[in-house]
Amino acid sequence: MKFINKKTHLQEGHTITDEYLNAECRVNEDDGHFHYQNVDYDGSFRSSGAKGRMLRLALANQDNYCCYCMRDLGMHDSMVTLEHVIPQKSTTKEFNSYVNLNVYPLTEGEVVRTRDFTGVQDPTLPPRPHTVSFENLTVSCDGTFPDRGPASQCCNSKRGNRFVFPMFYIEGVENDIVYMENGTIQIKESCAHAEDYRKMIRTANLNCRNLKYIRRLWYLFADIPYRDLENCVNDENQRMEKLRQVLYLDNDMADQDNEIFNKFKRENYWRTFMMYHWFYRNS
Ligand SMILES: [Zn+2]
Repeated sequence: MKFINKKTHLQEGHTITDEYLNAECRVNEDDGHFHYQNVDYDGSFRSSGAKGRMLRLALANQDNYCCYCMRDLGMHDSMVTLEHVIPQKSTTKEFNSYVNLNVYPLTEGEVVRTRDFTGVQDPTLPPRPHTVSFENLTVSCDGTFPDRGPASQCCNSKRGNRFVFPMFYIEGVENDIVYMENGTIQIKESCAHAEDYRKMIRTANLNCRNLKYIRRLWYLFADIPYRDLENCVNDENQRMEKLRQVLYLDNDMADQDNEIFNKFKRENYWRTFMMYHWFYRNS
């Protein structure tokens, strides 16, 4: 996981939202006042093209990485989803549970619950309605792996609407996380939000078996030139050779190593593994 700095793309994000609101939702009243109505993420936000623009912007803002698991989404477009950090259909209480954390950019001055925004006369921007604001939208993978097809195993869909502490908005979050040799993520005891972080890791299922295996492999392959790993994509013999080079060195791990070997010798698994190149010498 790494810190997502929204400030670098803030102006463009605001332009997308404001243009959408003014073109699709603004109602000018007879007496010179105005309000906004029908702010609809799945409807007009999508059909007007604003959602597509927001997705591309959020991808650029995150260097193409999934906000949760660090999958490189530039390598496989179809796996990209836009994630509402504060869920679309939040109650006032749920919405406030995020804003009260006071973690920028999900602060009171930046985002307002969409249902509390529509219908208000002459509202000023910011705060912008949370269902269509750049501050509340990040890109995530769809959490699928070859062995369970379209069933999500981690990230956006796995999380659903459950509360997550927005740890990717904490500057320096990288320093609070340890990627263990066995591939699991651990949170440093000393960090300020340790329990919140652990809950988030559980909710997004970031210690699922496939992610653990992938991170373990990147750790084991740290001394192997990156190009050699890339070259394995089209050659099963090379994949098996590379896997044998680093697996089966510890008897206690034999069962797990067998499972890893049988999965990642396959091309589709190797391709998924390569999408996590962020972990190369980074764990
Ligand atoms: Zn992901």
